[in-house]
Amino acid sequence: MDFIDLKSQYRRIQASVNARIQSVLEHGQYVLGPECTELETLLANYVGTKHCVAASSGTDTLLIAMMALGIGPGDEVITSPFTFISTGEMIALIGAKPVFVDIEPHTFNLDPALLAAAITPRTKAIMPVSLYGQCADFDAINAIAKKHGIPVIEDGAQSFGARYKGKRSCGLSDIGSTSFFPSKPLGAYGDAGALFTNDDHLAKLMREIRVHGQDRRYHHPRLGINGRLDTLQAAILLAKMEIFEDEVQARSRLGARYTELFNEAFAGQSIIKMPAIIDGNLSVYAQYTIEVPHEHEGRTQFERRMKEQGIPTAVHYPLSLHQQPVFANLGYKAGDFPVSEYMAARVVSLPMHPYLTDTQQQHVVSAVRVALLG
Ligand SMILES: *Cc1c(COP(=O)(O)O)cnc(C)c1O
Repeated sequence: MDFIDLKSQYRRIQASVNARIQSVLEHGQYVLGPECTELETLLANYVGTKHCVAASSGTDTLLIAMMALGIGPGDEVITSPFTFISTGEMIALIGAKPVFVDIEPHTFNLDPALLAAAITPRTKAIMPVSLYGQCADFDAINAIAKKHGIPVIEDGAQSFGARYKGKRSCGLSDIGSTSFFPSKPLGAYGDAGALFTNDDHLAKLMREIRVHGQDRRYHHPRLGINGRLDTLQAAILLAKMEIFEDEVQARSRLGARYTELFNEAFAGQSIIKMPAIIDGNLSVYAQYTIEVPHEHEGRTQFERRMKEQGIPTAVHYPLSLHQQPVFANLGYKAGDFPVSEYMAARVVSLPMHPYLTDTQQQHVVSAVRVALLG
């Protein structure tokens, strides 16, 4: 069984992908070509924002967003400690200080109740992560941010296509950032990402920063990076967008089906915990992640027993960012973010993609039962 099956998807859209790639090879504009502009229009429409700026990756987009906001040394950016390294890494790379705020145990997302206490006069942005495909609580986060006049950047690298109270991920705050790494809900065949905003000025800055801070050919009013998107990736994403909404629905349905099967298999037993989707949210389940017992090497043993049954698993993520050696200089210690630390010790992600069959899901669920109960 595949953890993520990209081959079934390719077979479904093969004709369209191949035709679009062929067309790029023939027109020869390999970087920021016409397909990139076409993609930006399509994605802005899909998300419901005025602007989309397509870029080289979901890491570069976080950097571009913070550069556009003028964040730098001496500034603080608030984020979740329970995320992929990029989120904290780009804050530090730009010279600012990552300030972590612990997560809610039921959603794995930044806890709005703890946010206000972390804000200081140096806070220049709040960067919540919409982890595992479910949006953070943006109404609550935006309200606090607005009171303090602080911009909000959504790290929606795992949640493209997700919905929050009728709106789409990446269109919920001042700037939305996403990744099209192959294994993300919308994936290219290489690195790619995109930024979203309704703000004309921020859109202009982000466009310039994407191309070395250039406003016209070889004229540079500001510093930027090489954050350009390959046209081939845009072409592939355009083909994938033809079926994306269908895949979003499939992801949501399959995630709910896993939960239903686990509830049946573990009726009345609280050995594992399944993801909770908040009313008003549609999760794209970038990961279907459960909590397993931690005691006596519980998770290591669980993963080994799953592997023995032919089921791949993964841990997203084994360390909270404040426990990463690279962030030791921030001065955090064990116990500072108890929920994040608790989850880092217990979470396991199971195979998840839009082409899972019911038989495969039942096989995964019974394998989990065997792995835990023998
Ligand atoms: C994948 C991911 C990123 C980085 O995206 P890339 O396109 O791989 O650079 C950033 N944040 C989160 C939460 C991610 O999952």
